[in-house]
Amino acid sequence: MRLDVVTIFPEYLEPLNVSLVGKARARGQLGVHVHDLRAWTYDRHNTVDDTPYGGGPGMVMKTEPWGDALDTVLADGYEAGSGEPALIVPTPSGRPFTQELAVQLSERPWLIFAPARYEGIDRRVVDEYATRMPVYEVSIGDYVLAGGEAAVLVVTEAVARLLPGVLGNAESHRDDSFALGAMANLLEGPVHTKPPRWRGRGIPDVLLSGHHGKIARWRRDEALRRTTENRPDLIERCDPAAFDKKDREM
Ligand code: SAM
Repeated sequence: MRLDVVTIFPEYLEPLNVSLVGKARARGQLGVHVHDLRAWTYDRHNTVDDTPYGGGPGMVMKTEPWGDALDTVLADGYEAGSGEPALIVPTPSGRPFTQELAVQLSERPWLIFAPARYEGIDRRVVDEYATRMPVYEVSIGDYVLAGGEAAVLVVTEAVARLLPGVLGNAESHRDDSFALGAMANLLEGPVHTKPPRWRGRGIPDVLLSGHHGKIARWRRDEALRRTTENRPDLIERCDPAAFDKKDREM
């Protein structure tokens, strides 16, 4: 997969060199290209923003640097044979970024991120590129950040861990919170590891029983309990028939 990020703070993307994403890059599973938007400004002050039409506080990112930057990135990616691009525009007014969307994005060959600052990017930029490729305007939560770079890091990490071969154990995201399948819409329950006693606290007996059916049942019940407590909105979307079926299999 190829990722391009156009930003006025390239250094903000340094974490893409470490941990899971960094390793995926080193192994060649992910190609990451970070571009400084100001390279596509042609005035003495490298201006990327201007006052909003209609008045009001704050500044708006200008069409021309974004258009020139995205055109260059697109030409480069097409020349490199990167496949069909999709544009990701982080914005609090976008659709919620979910695990389901992360799965969809992980199946695409090439993602281009356009994180904004100030009051966002002139709308005409999104409208223009939406005629050429899928555009995903995504929000990482119901709060307002100062810029979209942190959202790029969030989306990239969620997507990269789904790429084939990136996680050491391919099974390890199967039972994650929000994973699709029989446990769809459930949060993951608690997890434990050695030692068996710590500060007087033990491990639930069932986890030491070696009985796979009972362990699966316990995990499912804990997932249900945690989801009920923390995310009642998700419980409403669960399919009880899927649980009944799983019970019969245990
Ligand atoms: N005036 C905008 C609004 O209220 O929708 C907020 C602009 S915010 C200060 C600047 C940039 O940060 C946004 O354009 C976007 O790129 C990013 N951003 C802020 N909050 C975000 C969120 N919850 N999800 C994704 N991106 C966000």
